Amino acid sequence: MATYDVGGRSAIVTGAGSGIGRAIARLLAANGASVIVNDLDAGHAEAVVAEILAAGDTAEASVGDVTDAAWIASSIDQANALAPLRIAVNNAGIGGASALIGDYPDDSWDTVIGVNLSSIFHNLKAQLPAIAANGGGAVVNVASILGSVGFANSAAYVSAKHGLVGLTKNAAIEYADQGVRVNSVGPGFIKTPLLDANLDEAAMQFLAGKHPIGRLGESEEVAALVAFLASDAASFITGSYHLVDGGYTAV
Ligand code: NAP
Repeated sequence: MATYDVGGRSAIVTGAGSGIGRAIARLLAANGASVIVNDLDAGHAEAVVAEILAAGDTAEASVGDVTDAAWIASSIDQANALAPLRIAVNNAGIGGASALIGDYPDDSWDTVIGVNLSSIFHNLKAQLPAIAANGGGAVVNVASILGSVGFANSAAYVSAKHGLVGLTKNAAIEYADQGVRVNSVGPGFIKTPLLDANLDEAAMQFLAGKHPIGRLGESEEVAALVAFLASDAASFITGSYHLVDGGYTAV
């Protein structure tokens, strides 16, 4: 396993009860961070915390909705009580409706933009000053390949992820002089419960073929990039968007 220097600090990972967030929380904890495992579902968050504690590492569950202002404020306090908050990974996200723009439901547009973009703005408002007050650190926002290319029938998701890439750049510019690095990552299609819930086997096979590497990605392959960006090894990297996509966008 690759190692990353993230000891002596706490890390908030949102949507960490499943898929990519779970892999990120486990890897950051294995490398010494005290991890706040956020999820909507208490059972999922507590299961991931149990995995981390069983490995001899440190984590606490933080059940809540990333769109909820009260949860956002409490997440900062909970993290700082464990160790100085110096890492935040804004990973929680949802898929939304699948429809042409002409038929796209307004409520799904609002929900997807709310969870996948607006909530990260509100979390950053709390996270960036808090991390700066602790002497600096790193934020990683989990965007998607759909932060740089389109995907039919997914206007809300594609728009939110493109917006997140831009928000990341602005945050990086504004907080660089306070020692906070901010980057986004763009995973290709990764085999997680999000994909399982939205696609049948034939669609999975079709999508696998769109990646020159010839398969879907694994959550651990995204976690490796996120942990690197969150670590001190990435000390000159900020404001950028890093693909982990098996070559999807190179075609
Ligand atoms: P996942 O398996 O569905 O995990 C997402 C987690 O986020 C779930 O545990 C979910 O909780 C949680 N969550 C959803 N809404 C939340 C909210 N409002 N507050 C707190 N937690 C919330 O999905 P994933 O595939 O790992 O996706 C993680 C991130 O990667 C997302 O931002 C997604 O857009 C991005 N991404 C995924 C892929 C892919 O192919 N899988 C590709 C590119 C980017 P519950 O299960 O309890 O609802």
